[in-house]
Amino acid sequence: MMLSTDDTRILIIDDDALTRALLVESLGEAGFQMVEAADGESGLAAFDAERPDVVLLDVMMPGIDGFEVCRRLRQHPRRGRVPVIMLTGLDDTRSIERAYDSGATDFIAKPINWVLLRYRIGYVLRAATALEELIRSERNLTSAQQIARMGSWEWSLESDDLRHSDGYFRIFGEDSLTFGDGLEAFLARVYPPDRPRVEEALTGARKGRGYQQDYRIVRPDGLVRTVHETAVVLTDPAGLPVSVQGTLQDVSERVEAETRIRYLAFFDDLTGLPNRACFREMLQGALLRTARRGTRCGVILLDVERFARVNESLGQEAGDQALQLIAARLREFQRSVLDAYVRTMIEPETPRVARMGGDAFAMLVEDAPDADEVESQIHRLLGRLKRPFHVAGQELTLSARVGFTLAPDHGTEVESLLKAAESAVSEARRGGSGQGVQAFTEAMKIAAYARLSTENDLRRAVAANELRLFYQPKVDARDGRLLGAEALVRWQHPARGLLPPGEFIPLAEETGLIGPLSDWVLDQALAFLARCRDQGLAPLPISVNLCAAQFRSDKLVADLAASLARHGLPGHLLEIEVTESILMKDVDLASAMFAAIADQGIRISIDDFGTGYSSLAYLKRFRVHTLKIDRSFVRDLEEGGGDAAIVGAIIALAGNLGMGVIAEGVEEPAQASILLERGCSHMQGYYFARPLPEEAYREVLSQGLPNLRRDDWAFDPVL
Ligand code: C2E
Ligand code: CA
Ligand code: CA
Repeated sequence: MMLSTDDTRILIIDDDALTRALLVESLGEAGFQMVEAADGESGLAAFDAERPDVVLLDVMMPGIDGFEVCRRLRQHPRRGRVPVIMLTGLDDTRSIERAYDSGATDFIAKPINWVLLRYRIGYVLRAATALEELIRSERNLTSAQQIARMGSWEWSLESDDLRHSDGYFRIFGEDSLTFGDGLEAFLARVYPPDRPRVEEALTGARKGRGYQQDYRIVRPDGLVRTVHETAVVLTDPAGLPVSVQGTLQDVSERVEAETRIRYLAFFDDLTGLPNRACFREMLQGALLRTARRGTRCGVILLDVERFARVNESLGQEAGDQALQLIAARLREFQRSVLDAYVRTMIEPETPRVARMGGDAFAMLVEDAPDADEVESQIHRLLGRLKRPFHVAGQELTLSARVGFTLAPDHGTEVESLLKAAESAVSEARRGGSGQGVQAFTEAMKIAAYARLSTENDLRRAVAANELRLFYQPKVDARDGRLLGAEALVRWQHPARGLLPPGEFIPLAEETGLIGPLSDWVLDQALAFLARCRDQGLAPLPISVNLCAAQFRSDKLVADLAASLARHGLPGHLLEIEVTESILMKDVDLASAMFAAIADQGIRISIDDFGTGYSSLAYLKRFRVHTLKIDRSFVRDLEEGGGDAAIVGAIIALAGNLGMGVIAEGVEEPAQASILLERGCSHMQGYYFARPLPEEAYREVLSQGLPNLRRDDWAFDPVL
């Protein structure tokens, strides 16, 4: 194969005019472009100006000789690797050696063999191109690794030789000289508690098992970083492991964001006590244990009396301080109970306390023999709370109203127990009990029976077509562009008017009516999309909420596909919103299901994100497209506040996982500005639009949102 020579430029540096003429003649005929120079100085200048691809350089020249010219060419800042072929007039080994010493690529002895010459040049050029490519790809790899904060390594099992990329050392904050050799050097840097796990993985790799895992490393400055490592084993034709190749990535930021979200989502920032979500989890655990042991569990809610007055008279800051002091008393109480138990040598279950929000606190008493024991604990706790507090130079005395309920006597489910305790505390607030402590009673149950009639009502509603689907627009706040909508169900009740889903979805879930209801919602939403398309409106995606029951059904994937097919719609027009708690019920099932759903082009978003803590560790296993920041974080969004921090962390997490992010419940322009500032531009909320009846949404599809209809919509921060 002949090399394409058209745009290959050769510089000849030779003082002998005849040799130059012959070279120009012979190589020009082969299609090369020729540049000539008669001595070293002008040769160097031509090298700069003409950018040749190859240099033919005579050794013997007046002025600076060929060896020196070659040395200087090699020092050229950008083009020091251009091949140089030296023309050694003398066919002796010494000048050949000197030619190589000064950096020549190759040599040709004079008199020149004209036939061989062009092949020689072709070969040199090919080798140079290959070298350039190798260097470039290595450089690309290095910079890609640098950007991703990645490193790679290779472990030859035969020689036990371990080689690392530069990026690898950079992750450890070291270089190849300080790092040392072999596995020992590496293991010494693994955070000790993680070492056994890492060693085990390496032992497995030696036997041919690849792995993926996260572990921590310690850098020379004492900094602990979390890395994610993937190792694959290469085998010989007989299938025996030969070497292990691994990549290492610094994922500390992602892990920190996760930890922070978990903390914020699970603990109350002000008091450091577990929050409501955490209390639910604790209660769930306690219920399982009590059921196993056949004991009781007391669920206690505390409502601080007249707390609003503290805020009003002493200010918000003093109010916060008071809440912190109350939290401290609760913790103190916890400790005292533990101490008492230890003295009596009974295996204790410490009562656990939490802040449920505002001035409401909760306590969980596990293994209580009866209501009396729970009540006596409550009185001991109230005794502690009665002692005066010192806040803002004032002495304060606070008291609390308390309601409690017992499991399994009054219920065995988290929700129903919390509801029962709430009924009890409301009763206590009304002053039904002299001491301010109220147990849940049968009488309170009666109110709950009222729900039963609703159930029959709902059964009828699904059949009688009283459900309505509303559409709430999602927008890009940067330019006001409509992105699609979320479908939200309503119940047009003949007597009670338009009911929000909160009033009937939980009931539908309990009674199994959710199945037909969900089918209706999906079909309705897709039918709407199909109508839009038929009327020539460019349809935008619609998201529907998925409930736990749908997720448990093994027909879900097939149902979605069948519904899309029935309406002749592509998958990308449908999005499903799933809450974290639904995912967490069965992680393996969920990730397989998501993959199958995503394969149809359907997008998946995680609803109410940030309120269910536990899925974070698994999040990367799911094929999820979008995280939907829960309304509660958006609601209290103030610059610098705790919720701005959590929102920032969620946005960062989404970025780290390569997912999109949308905020729901945006009501104020200030919330929208903060979100935009933090890098979240997709939003949904009353500020942009309420959930709209179909007709109104169709109008928005064709006209845009009335308040964003200006052509020059650009969000003005209103801070
Ligand atoms: P979600 O999925 O979190 O839906 C968003 C809720 O926030 C909707 O309440 C919506 O009206 C409300 N919202 C939107 N923007 C704002 C705002 O700026 N401020 C405030 N305060 N609220 C805003 P909605 O329609 O009452 O729905 C409540 C929940 O009911 C939904 O929460 C969802 O979990 C459930 N739901 C609604 N429709 C369906 C459905 O078709 N199927 C199922 N399984 N669940 C549904
Ligand atoms: Ca939703
Ligand atoms: Ca939501």
